[in-house]
Amino acid sequence: MALRTQPTLLGLDVADLLDLLGPGARPFRARQIYEALYKHNVADLDETTTLPKDLRDRLRAEMPHGRLTVDQRFNSVDGTVRYLLKLPADGRTVESVLMPQDDRHTICISSQVGCPVDCKFCLTAQMGLERSLSAGEIVGQVLHVCREHNLDPRASHCNIVMMGMGEPLLNLPNVLKATRILCDDNGVGFSQRRVTVSTSGIVPKIAELGAAEVRPNLAISLNASHEEQRVELMPITKKYHLADLMAACKAYPLRPREFLFFEYVMLRGVNDTDADARRVVALLGNMKAKLNIIALNPGPGIPFQTPDPERVDSFQKIIMRSLPCYVRRPRGLDIYAACGQLKKMQPADLITIQ
Ligand code: SAH
Ligand code: SF4
Repeated sequence: MALRTQPTLLGLDVADLLDLLGPGARPFRARQIYEALYKHNVADLDETTTLPKDLRDRLRAEMPHGRLTVDQRFNSVDGTVRYLLKLPADGRTVESVLMPQDDRHTICISSQVGCPVDCKFCLTAQMGLERSLSAGEIVGQVLHVCREHNLDPRASHCNIVMMGMGEPLLNLPNVLKATRILCDDNGVGFSQRRVTVSTSGIVPKIAELGAAEVRPNLAISLNASHEEQRVELMPITKKYHLADLMAACKAYPLRPREFLFFEYVMLRGVNDTDADARRVVALLGNMKAKLNIIALNPGPGIPFQTPDPERVDSFQKIIMRSLPCYVRRPRGLDIYAACGQLKKMQPADLITIQ
């Protein structure tokens, strides 16, 4: 979907900034603005007093900063913080989640407002697609969370997962530009190894992602063990068949020490049998893959149930004979921050700050 938002400073790279400054501008100035925006994560360029005041005034007059602001913030008993961040372009809100664990932090960000893919177990699907996010709006979520929690992407054990609202591979140019800024040492400063993008399987875009020079790790939401089952759960499979998805995964150019991640949402009595687990092994067995199991996080209007822990255990044991397999613990269930629960809604028992 075409993006019709006004350009903002957030989202510009050094070349864009040089263009903005106009003919005769010194590259040094563009780099200085770039570092102020991303490396120093300033909320306002006026914090950068090494930039001449007349230049700061000119930039302010020409283009808005594009900083996201907090619309709502929900705190979970498990330490997870869920944000509804307001996009300055049109006041829409987007979901971002911070999941602290010991001394590690994972920031889950969105790539679109809503999602056009109609997976039957996911609350975000019920929104449909409102619009895609710009590169600045994707980066802006990370900048906001880092600023508010004083996280230094270089120093702290910080990961980004693009697993919030939306299908990132349907917004690939902006996702890739955001990744270049996030993973640039003079930009936000994350390592490429600590950024992961998750897709429902937009097959032609997988090779395009693989060809990008700077790119995140790839996770595929598998969620079914055979074609008919996947068509039921993820109707997009009618367009991008499971066999073609597996072929794209096999052809994906992994970097040294890189793995392909697969996610499998377990639904009671639907895709959770030992036979399903054996079929998943057959699908992934000869790939350099890791599987993350997620027991369904329930939600209103989701016509599925969560499997019993014993079922999850048995499924995991079968997979683990052939490939690494982890069960992802739900985070922020009480505030609807867990996978698949991101939709504009406010559970009654959550604590709203602000
Ligand atoms: N659109 C992308 C990324 C966002 S969804 C994708 O589908 O991969 C992130 C993850 O949440 C996906 O693996 C998806 O399968 C999972 N998910 C969706 N709904 C869920 C639910 N109700 N319970 C648990 N996981 C869910
Ligand atoms: Fe979209 Fe991912 Fe939810 Fe499917 S699981 S509807 S692709 S956000």
